[in-house]
Amino acid sequence: MRANKLNLKKTTSIETIIKDVSNKELTNEETRNIEARNGYIDYQSLNNVDKWGNRKVGDKKRSNKKAGKVLLVGAGPNDPDLLTVKAYKAIQQAEVVVFDRLVGQGILNLIPEHCEQIYVGKRCGQPSLKQDEINHILIEQAKLGKQVVRLKGGDPFIFGRGGEEAFALIAQQVSYDVIPGITAAIGCAASSKIPLTHRGLSRSVTLVTGHVMAGAFDSWSGLVSTGQTLVFYMGLEQAEKIQAGLLNSGLSKQTPIAIIGNGCSKNQQVHVNKLSELCCLSNQLKGLTPALIVVGEVVSLREKLNVEWVEELSLYQ
Ligand code: SAH
Repeated sequence: MRANKLNLKKTTSIETIIKDVSNKELTNEETRNIEARNGYIDYQSLNNVDKWGNRKVGDKKRSNKKAGKVLLVGAGPNDPDLLTVKAYKAIQQAEVVVFDRLVGQGILNLIPEHCEQIYVGKRCGQPSLKQDEINHILIEQAKLGKQVVRLKGGDPFIFGRGGEEAFALIAQQVSYDVIPGITAAIGCAASSKIPLTHRGLSRSVTLVTGHVMAGAFDSWSGLVSTGQTLVFYMGLEQAEKIQAGLLNSGLSKQTPIAIIGNGCSKNQQVHVNKLSELCCLSNQLKGLTPALIVVGEVVSLREKLNVEWVEELSLYQ
């Protein structure tokens, strides 16, 4: 194909490129032979080359039987425009999409019509039987030879049980891969004009699950340190415990907090207050889902970064 041909005159350039694309040393003689034969480099004749210019491995091992594969795909936080190009391509090529509650309708609209859609309606903190059922669906579909996209809100490996699904797939010898997504903390904080780190204010960010499991709240002191931002996922219903835990571990009552609901959507809500009011605020916002709690001095920057004329033009107001 003409598009894959490159006219090169200098032997030195050809040697370099041939070495790059074939991952193997060619002798000068081999290089000259190729140059003489073609006068150009035909990437396809040098074997299948991927988009990085590297030779694709494993081509020889391909059998006629179509092997299924599961892609654990991060759909980001709601807004379809925050989907990665890679995630979009995976959705377009999927034969089955298995998705749950956090994947926004705008993203579901991108699934091609011919593609089978399986809603697994997963909610945070459901018992493991439900997860087993999801694992079973993924394994079953892949073993039928399908290209399966397991579409998850945010990033598959941030409180998304992506690791558990990957283990289940490996146990059944099912090939899988992971496509990262923008996790809620990153997306929601930025869209709310809260920088999670800021020079002089916050040197680190910790993502914490607010979902209460045995012993989950034993280590508050590890979370409380100067210059750290905390983001609690699934924390709204645990706001009382979070407030008490942080205050008892020495965090100031005045520490700014924000509750961000429906982040990165046109229904995004951002409520700013101080730590001593967290529980009260979350009671007022009962039912706001999905929602995150951000704790740290960086929250105070929102007021300065979200000035009126900026807010008016904001993407998510
Ligand atoms: N894998 C996801 C997180 C799943 S846990 C990710 O990486 O984002 C579900 C929790 O994520 C929710 O309870 C909520 O705390 C948070 N969340 C997800 N999407 C959100 C959104 N659009 N706005 C606010 N919080 C969100």
